[in-house]
Amino acid sequence: MQKTVLVVGGAGYIGSHTCMMLAKRGYIPVVFDNLYNGHEEFVRWGILERGDIRDRARIAEVIATHKPDAILHFAALIEVGESVKNPLAFYENNVIGSLNLLQSAIDGGVKHIVFSSTCATYGLPETETLDETHGQKPINPYGRTKWIVEQAIRDYSDLLGLSAVILRYFNAAGADFEGRIGEWHKPETHAVPLAIEAAMGRRQGFKIFGTDYPTRDGTCVRDYIHVLDLADAHVRAVDYLLAGGKTEAINLGTGVGTTVRELLDTIRAVSGRDFTVEEAPRREGDSTLLVADNKKAAALLGWAPRYGIEDIVRSAWNWHSKHNAPH
Ligand code: UDP
Repeated sequence: MQKTVLVVGGAGYIGSHTCMMLAKRGYIPVVFDNLYNGHEEFVRWGILERGDIRDRARIAEVIATHKPDAILHFAALIEVGESVKNPLAFYENNVIGSLNLLQSAIDGGVKHIVFSSTCATYGLPETETLDETHGQKPINPYGRTKWIVEQAIRDYSDLLGLSAVILRYFNAAGADFEGRIGEWHKPETHAVPLAIEAAMGRRQGFKIFGTDYPTRDGTCVRDYIHVLDLADAHVRAVDYLLAGGKTEAINLGTGVGTTVRELLDTIRAVSGRDFTVEEAPRREGDSTLLVADNKKAAALLGWAPRYGIEDIVRSAWNWHSKHNAPH
């Protein structure tokens, strides 16, 4: 029988790509989203149940209606700068909302959860690549809210029989190759979409935040991971939990670092377009280098990334060329 998966935040960027992958692998996705950052037109695989994770009664109602076999929890506020200006919103949505969801899952008999966490929970890296045992000292409220939920998940696992996969993403980017869904944030703050829109002439140019970092070209190094690789890992995480897997935290990155200048070069090469680049001061809170050690994902989920930075740029370009979002 087909299994049902409740995808909380399924109208958002990574959630919608995961719904597509769930449907392709024979699961029935049900989207729960307040459409604050999500987009109704992204709900193409499975139905939409509108609701907010701050409303525990509404979550309980949806769980009772659909009796999901597992829950994927993507819903969160994600913008680091915003978290510094308005921590309350982050604690209410990301912490209280997640606690509501964990408790509703247990009350409703759902024992399996996949939680979207982040490499931002590690804080400042002490090693060239980060594995899951690296210390966790998040440096902003966003990272701290995710870290707190990780701790709550461990308590729920030890005390209440939850089994969960905590996925710590590195830099999600790219889009569905058919260009039906893609990265669409309002306002946009991420390097890949901003640089692509600059190359398309939709923005004035691109500002590099910091050119004096101790890296090969002075700009920050990030591990950009294709959203379809992330989606694939989520489906594998559900398979793992349904097969009896226990609670684990797992990195999702490619293990390959790309500097901001290398990203811009790739966009120029893929698109054949040049654009204005300004060298700006460092952005507060940016780590020099964030690259994943992804061996645990391979060992536990049989997962390996299929796509690289060129595929990311190509698919993102395709999506942006079909979709001109107001900003
Ligand atoms: N970045 C940049 N200009 C921008 C946006 C981002 O130079 O307009 C840099 C940023 O400093 C970081 C990298 O691009 O080194 C990736 O930033 P993004 O915001 O996409 O993700 P983050 O790593 O902050 O999660």
